[in-house]
Amino acid sequence: MECGTLILRGSPSTLIASCGGEVYVVDPGHGRKRAKQVRREILKHGPSRVTFLVTHFHSDHYTSLAEGLLDSLEAPVAVAAPRVDAPALRDPLLRVTLTFGYPLPGDSGLLTYDPLPVRVDSEIDPPTRIGPFEVVPLPGHTPGQVGVVAPDGTLYAADSLFGERVLARFGAPYHFDPCRALETLHWIRDHLGRYEAIQPSHGPLTRAAEAEALVDANIDAVSRLLTHAREALEKRYTLDEATRHVAKSMGAPGDPGLLLLIQATVRGALACLHARGEATALADDGLVRWSVAPKESR
Ligand SMILES: [Zn+2]
Repeated sequence: MECGTLILRGSPSTLIASCGGEVYVVDPGHGRKRAKQVRREILKHGPSRVTFLVTHFHSDHYTSLAEGLLDSLEAPVAVAAPRVDAPALRDPLLRVTLTFGYPLPGDSGLLTYDPLPVRVDSEIDPPTRIGPFEVVPLPGHTPGQVGVVAPDGTLYAADSLFGERVLARFGAPYHFDPCRALETLHWIRDHLGRYEAIQPSHGPLTRAAEAEALVDANIDAVSRLLTHAREALEKRYTLDEATRHVAKSMGAPGDPGLLLLIQATVRGALACLHARGEATALADDGLVRWSVAPKESR
């Protein structure tokens, strides 16, 4: 069946495919304005059915569904999300705790987006297919993140990688598990020949010829982050000291919400270095210090 695809620009950008009356929407975004934009685009195709695919549990990628989008469509709708991430779409407190490491309420003033609950009708396990899309696993940014290969050969890479301006603005990219995020980036690099273009959720569509430089910039950022986390082990830093070291070394801004995200990324780095036998936790007069693991435990 012939399917037309388009990218609705935004942060995140939204991928939409229309195939014989069925419409598929990847990451509809957040906010009432975005809900109206996406609805307008969907209705142009007179859909008999609309399927939403959410790539991962971060609120900015899908809360428009709860901000009028699902209720405003007359055609039957279904929401699909990765099985591992689905509980955090349904439960905002779980989502916020997984993202920031603290069970912060939505009105705390520290959260970037309103964490609204969203229903999930089908839980997916990649690799799989949804309509015209090939769904591929891209874990690391969240435990269950997926990406989507559109019929035109574009890889919608979700937040596995970021546009260069976004990388520069945040200093240190957010990843739940930076070690797995780095493996995912290497997987994308190894498979670049399969794709016509890469669409990061936050960043411009990048044609195949320039995609390698974009992936390498992201590999470089995550590698530097892990290098600075290893330096923190050498110095036996606490989580807060390690966060300061990483934030300053990578030129991250000092906003508390952003620092909480960097702290969560550093926590993820310490955890994955521990899982790989490189790091150990020490008790020091009421402080937890992270240190290089002794040789015999490796
Ligand atoms: Zn995200």
